[in-house]
Amino acid sequence: MQVFEQVNALRVQILEWKKKGYSIGFVPTMGNLHNGHLSLVKLAQQSCDKVVVSVFVNPIQFGPDEDYASYPRTIELDQKKLSESQVDTVFYPSVEEMYPNGTQQTRVQATESLTGLLEGAIRPGHFDGVTTVVCKLFNIVQPDKAIFGQKDYQQLAIIKTMVAELSLPIGIISAPIGRDLDGLALSSRNQYLSVQQRKVAPKFHTVLQDIAHAIESGNTQFSDLCSAATDSLLAEGFDEVDYITVRDAKTLAPVTNYEQDIVILGVVILGKTRLLDNILLLKNS
Ligand code: AMP
Repeated sequence: MQVFEQVNALRVQILEWKKKGYSIGFVPTMGNLHNGHLSLVKLAQQSCDKVVVSVFVNPIQFGPDEDYASYPRTIELDQKKLSESQVDTVFYPSVEEMYPNGTQQTRVQATESLTGLLEGAIRPGHFDGVTTVVCKLFNIVQPDKAIFGQKDYQQLAIIKTMVAELSLPIGIISAPIGRDLDGLALSSRNQYLSVQQRKVAPKFHTVLQDIAHAIESGNTQFSDLCSAATDSLLAEGFDEVDYITVRDAKTLAPVTNYEQDIVILGVVILGKTRLLDNILLLKNS
């Protein structure tokens, strides 16, 4: 496995692969890799000849009061996992390599209709930071396919829209949410949880599943279902519920019936940790 820290060195390798006609799969990450990330790697390997994984904690997608400084950085362990997963190349740039001017003034503004709500409303500027770095990484890696997790559902919807609206020649593959055995969605931030909080955390997914089952059984009282879910999470020991909501799977607009694909999205706070999860319900599956 090769590790590149410089854009130019990676470009040489990419060019060589392109000349040989290899397809390139790309998995962008912020590191601290778990099995959810590795499932994205597997999908990339199944659909492309060569796989590049980037590990970059992107400062411009964190707000001033967020965990940029303390975000877990575990590059040695990450490299070991990626090497064991037979990844071809890791791109591990410094902040200076990605943003040599010290700031990034040219930005890719994320789709407005998808950023003014949910995570975008709570984390102003976050998605512009994501689309900017992802677009930049796409230009560096020039992948045929890029794999993103359904875990970050709104991010995935925004990336798909960016790729379509900017006519980027890249196929976006959505990967199912990797979970622990008790249902908790895997996340680099789960390690912030205390032992007691970790015991409470899986109830989040159970509550979302209860909503899904109710909807599949014909209940369309979405706001009642979400309010009851919120009450039960607070009673179970969660500190805050940022939102539990049922949305159109494409536009993320609120819905009042299940006549199209929908997604149940939730964000809860346990101690100092924000946990995200969702369940996608496809109308015709
Ligand atoms: P991150 O390192 O958290 O920025 O995530 C990098 C990629 O991995 C994103 O596309 C995430 O959506 C995806 N990802 C994170 N957690 C999971 C998970 N539990 N299952 C599947 N994909 C995930």
